[in-house]
Amino acid sequence: MRSLLFAANWKMHLGPEDARAYLKTFRARYNRRDDRTVWFFPPAVSLEAAAQAVRERHDLVVGAQDIYWEPKGAFTGAISGPLALQAGAHATLIGHSERRHVFGETDEDTRRKVAAALAVGLVPLLCVGETLAERDAGHTTAVVVRQLAAALGGLDAPALSRLVVAYEPVWAIGTGRNATPRDASLVHREIRGWIAQRGVARLRVLYGGSVNAKNAAELLAEQELDGVLVGGASLDADGWAQLVQTAAP
Ligand code: PEP
Repeated sequence: MRSLLFAANWKMHLGPEDARAYLKTFRARYNRRDDRTVWFFPPAVSLEAAAQAVRERHDLVVGAQDIYWEPKGAFTGAISGPLALQAGAHATLIGHSERRHVFGETDEDTRRKVAAALAVGLVPLLCVGETLAERDAGHTTAVVVRQLAAALGGLDAPALSRLVVAYEPVWAIGTGRNATPRDASLVHREIRGWIAQRGVARLRVLYGGSVNAKNAAELLAEQELDGVLVGGASLDADGWAQLVQTAAP
């Protein structure tokens, strides 16, 4: 059976109280389906509230939006893998385009963060994707492969098999433009090929970038997509529950 992953990136929205209210609504509206899991990435301040709100539901998972690679210390404003874990996280986004392009995160940073996540037992959800200029220059594959190699190049097959990768073209995030199912699927195949060369036969690859209730079904009809990573359209609990419930047969 195809197993789908629906990941909601709340970005800088929904404090602890809003997170509790959101998840109460989501749980009431969404009827659990065995062929899908739903991951929520709240802001760090809401991690614990969100984790508590889904605690008896194995199909609902909470993750951090980012971690720093050091386990503890004088790093004001950052959260570490162990802290995220203690708050109830099971996963963490790494290398989201806003981390890379707004906060200046480098490929080397993503490597350290992936290693830190794996070391503490968090599932890294590594985001890769090209800018519009890179796409127009025909460099999509080169950029994605560079980001994969930088973040994952030193890992062996057992470590790689614990990851999830999201292909998120930068030009599609929050813009209302999204890759066609075919374009997305071609890049997904490249990602799978890169991982397969390192001895991992099966890896979950999500698509992200302006996915919403209107386009999710068409994107997920593409078998290369193992799920979606969604920002804006995941902020409304009702709408997100509906999307998760119905976006794939
Ligand atoms: C994201 O934040 O990863 C994302 C894909 O955002 P949006 O769905 O709003 O484009």
